[in-house]
Amino acid sequence: MSFMSLGLSKPLLDALAAKDYTKATPIQAQAIPTVLTGRDLLGIAQTGTGKTAAFMLPALDRLAANRPQFLKPGQIRMLVLAPTRELASQIADSARAYGRFSNASVGVIFGGVPNGKSVRAVSRGLDVLVATPGRLLDLVDQRALSLRELEILVLDEADQMLDLGFIHALKRIVALVPKKRQTLFFSATMPKAIKQLADQYLTSPAEVSV
Ligand code: AMP
Repeated sequence: MSFMSLGLSKPLLDALAAKDYTKATPIQAQAIPTVLTGRDLLGIAQTGTGKTAAFMLPALDRLAANRPQFLKPGQIRMLVLAPTRELASQIADSARAYGRFSNASVGVIFGGVPNGKSVRAVSRGLDVLVATPGRLLDLVDQRALSLRELEILVLDEADQMLDLGFIHALKRIVALVPKKRQTLFFSATMPKAIKQLADQYLTSPAEVSV
């Protein structure tokens, strides 16, 4: 399936051409048109399937379509939660590459980065923040960022986040974001605890599985 037929705008198609991606992977073909409509998504997919682009490309398109003239200090429009620093930095790299022609501002924070650096990363507000849950809450507690105007929430590798003990952090974070938002939820496996979490956080989601 070509990316052109999935409904993405030109700045994103240009970024894909620059990366030499010619065809969408199966999860991309399924997820992109749905996410572009603003619908919630439950994706059952492993790393390596192209799932990052499956959520990031349509999300960047939606963010670009209604970008406010100014972001408030600390304002976050899209939050991607990931279990590990490695995954968080990979997702941020992808977001920068895909968003290069749509002027998306992208930041990443995770444990181990000096606090001052994390605070500076979010101080002007961001279109996309990728974070591990614990570090995100540190910054919330310092009032360095605000999730009150969040438009899109992504939980990536939800099963791993639960395995690593992030359930309380996740619950605290979700309690801070607006009820009216788009939520994209990815997990490689779907045990009962994950299904329950997905049921709580998603509203009439489309389901994709690869
Ligand atoms: P992910 O599953 O998101 O970790 O992506 C796995 C790898 O596939 C990454 O290195 C991506 O850059 C690459 N990739 C994702 N989508 C495509 C595509 N449509 N064509 C070629 N490579 C891709």
